[in-house]
This record gives sequence, C-alpha cells and structure tokens, in this order.
Amino acid sequence: MERKGILFVLSGPSGAGKGTVLHEVLQRVSGLAVSVSVTTRAARPGEIDGIHYHFRTQEQFQAMVENNEFLEYVSKFNNRYGTPKAQVQKLLEEGTDVVLEIETKGAAKIRKNNPDAVYIFITPSSFEELTRRLSVRGTESPEVCALRLKIARTEYRSIRHYDYIAINDNLQECVDAVCAIILAERNRRKRNPSLAERLMNPCSKC
Ligand code: 5GP
Repeated sequence: MERKGILFVLSGPSGAGKGTVLHEVLQRVSGLAVSVSVTTRAARPGEIDGIHYHFRTQEQFQAMVENNEFLEYVSKFNNRYGTPKAQVQKLLEEGTDVVLEIETKGAAKIRKNNPDAVYIFITPSSFEELTRRLSVRGTESPEVCALRLKIARTEYRSIRHYDYIAINDNLQECVDAVCAIILAERNRRKRNPSLAERLMNPCSKC
C-alpha cells in the first residue's frame, strides 16, 4: 500500500449546502468514503437508517459513549451526533480517504488527535446570504432559523482552525474547489513517502 487514507473534515453552518456539495463531489472523485454518523434525532422523510445516519435511541447512543466507540460526539439542537471510530479507522488503514461531515465542535475534537487531517469550511460568501437562504428555505420555523443563525455565529469563529474555505455561492464552483483540494492533498509528497523514495532511488539496472 502506497499510503494511508486521508481524513477530510467538512464543516459549515446549517444552510451552507454541505450535503449537496458532498453529494456532487462523490460523483466526481473516486476512492472517497463518507463516514455514516450515529444520531439520536428522528429520521427525516426520505432518510434511511445506515445510509444517511445510524439512527439510535438515547440509551443506545450512551452505551456507545461508554464503550468508547466514538472518535468524537456532540450534542446539537437537543440531539446527539457521533462519528463511529472503528469504521473510520478501518477505511483509513486500508488506504481509503474518508470524509466526515460534522459540525465545528466535533471537528475541534478530531483535530486534537489528527493533525494530518484536512479541514474544509463550506459557507456562502457572507452572513447576510446565509440568513437569506435559511429564511427562504422555509423548512424550519422562525424560532429554529433564529437558533441556527445564533449557532452559525459561533461556528464562524472557528474558521481560523480550518485549512480551506470553500465558498458556496455557486454550487459547481464550490464543488470544483472541494475536488481540487482533495486531489491536491492526495498528491502531496509528504503523503506519498514510499513513492517519493522509489523515484529518488531507481534500481541500479534501470
Ligand atoms: P442534521 O441534523 O441537519 O443532519 O445535522 C446537524 C449538524 O450535525 C450538521 O452540522 C452536521 O454536519 C452535524 N453532524 C452530523 N453528524 C455529526 C457527527 O457525527 N459529529 C458531529 N460533531 N457533528 C455531526
């Protein structure tokens, strides 16, 4: 195996379009797996257990916490979310690149143990645009929109810890940017030490 998998952490406020961007990126970039999180929130219409999330009860989630089964976990909007450790570690060991689509507090926990991971923040180019999108989306009540905007303000403060900001005003441009980041990271010399070694030391008969 030439290298271990790269861990990509994708964050951004609610309404930034992370899910849509990731869906498009997966159509374009091969060899990328998405970690399926565990959550205590109820499934939304169309969401499938094991594909969008592993939907679990509070008790089941707590048992996983006590068994140390999460890379990170948080509470958000009165629900709990966690990244299952075994699944992600196995993929990385096998050399598969893995994307976590998680909020900023969880990303901060991942950062402590994964300095080599790549942190990408997806956002519209202004807070005003985010506000507009959340209000026209119409899927949440004004109270929930206000709560999401309040949380977004704190999430923006953590932008300084991210390696990349991918602006999502235009979906295709944002997808292009995220694909470019992934491809560039894959080609970093430091991530391909045995390839570099082989190229620096060709066999004497060649
Ligand atoms: P939603 O309920 O809308 O699917 O997700 C709410 C938020 O939780 C989103 O910002 C999403 O990225 C985040 N999230 C989903 N799974 C996880 C996880 O495993 N860990 C953390 N820290 N955040 C998550």
